[in-house]
Amino acid sequence: MSLPARYPLCVLPTPMHPLPRLSHALGVEVWIKRDDLTGFVGGGNKGRKLEYLASHLLEVGADTMVVCGSLQSNFVRSAGGLCALLGIRCVAAVMSLPYDAEFGRPAGHPPEEGGNVELDRILGVRLEVVPDGPWEALFQAAADIAERERASGHTVYEVPIGGSSPLGAYGFVQAAAEAQESFDHIIVPTSSGSTHAGLAWHFHGSSTQVHGIACDPEPDLLDDVVRLCAGLDEMHGQVKRIESGGLLLHRDWVGSGYGVPSQAGQAALKRLAREEGVFLDPVYSAKAMSGLIGLATQGALSGRVLFWHTGGFPTVCAPGAGS
Ligand SMILES: *Cc1c(COP(=O)(O)O)cnc(C)c1O
Repeated sequence: MSLPARYPLCVLPTPMHPLPRLSHALGVEVWIKRDDLTGFVGGGNKGRKLEYLASHLLEVGADTMVVCGSLQSNFVRSAGGLCALLGIRCVAAVMSLPYDAEFGRPAGHPPEEGGNVELDRILGVRLEVVPDGPWEALFQAAADIAERERASGHTVYEVPIGGSSPLGAYGFVQAAAEAQESFDHIIVPTSSGSTHAGLAWHFHGSSTQVHGIACDPEPDLLDDVVRLCAGLDEMHGQVKRIESGGLLLHRDWVGSGYGVPSQAGQAALKRLAREEGVFLDPVYSAKAMSGLIGLATQGALSGRVLFWHTGGFPTVCAPGAGS
């Protein structure tokens, strides 16, 4: 059995450094893993997933990649960069604000201009905007686009939301090895789940606890991570059989819903910028940092803590991100 091949896109390993002022204030040693600096078309965690998806895409011989996400999706922008590099088409089904059917659409309007939307234009991504609705409607729109493209003769490579297939998660099994220095806790935002899954799979059974901070109220979020871990078992021929009870997912820092900044998250965003010179993003990493601060304040973290910064810098530059 052969493991997936890497198509190099990112500048790896990414840097890791302490956060002295935050550590002092919280009374725990906090480090940061700078995956905002992966380099490829603006950085962030999606480049790591795309390195393995790209190899598969080339194997399939696709001339069109079909993706989906929110209008400000970091994955759509990163996939657009890969397609530009390979000289193939990138078609994206996007909603301004997809939401969980059970919770409904949260109040708030993410920026529809600037940020990733502008970068998508530069990269030549073909954005197909569909009206806001539940995630399932977005996935269906992407499936319809893929069908349409196939019908017109294209060889299509369809990628699930956030690049979260087991292959995408494999990028984070590889990433985990960069943080081998013994950390007691790793804090990471969780949304489509493959970042969390790759790290949790690697560290399963070790003394390092991986904490996902949910950025999405979806009740099935943990099932997605479990499914991705099962996919990694299959890929490695190594059966870890990670169940939901063996994973840590904290749901207290989502705020009012996916894609809408939270009060605690915005406070964390400003704090890290002003005290450590690091920009977080309002949708994911700022909420994850508010979770780290919350957990540390509750006394739930001790020893050495690693905050895994997943990127998202373009949305900090979109209108209204600082309010
Ligand atoms: C996509 C994304 C995440 C979430 O990662 P998943 O693997 O989808 O759970 C976190 N942070 C940023 C900046 C992202 O773009």
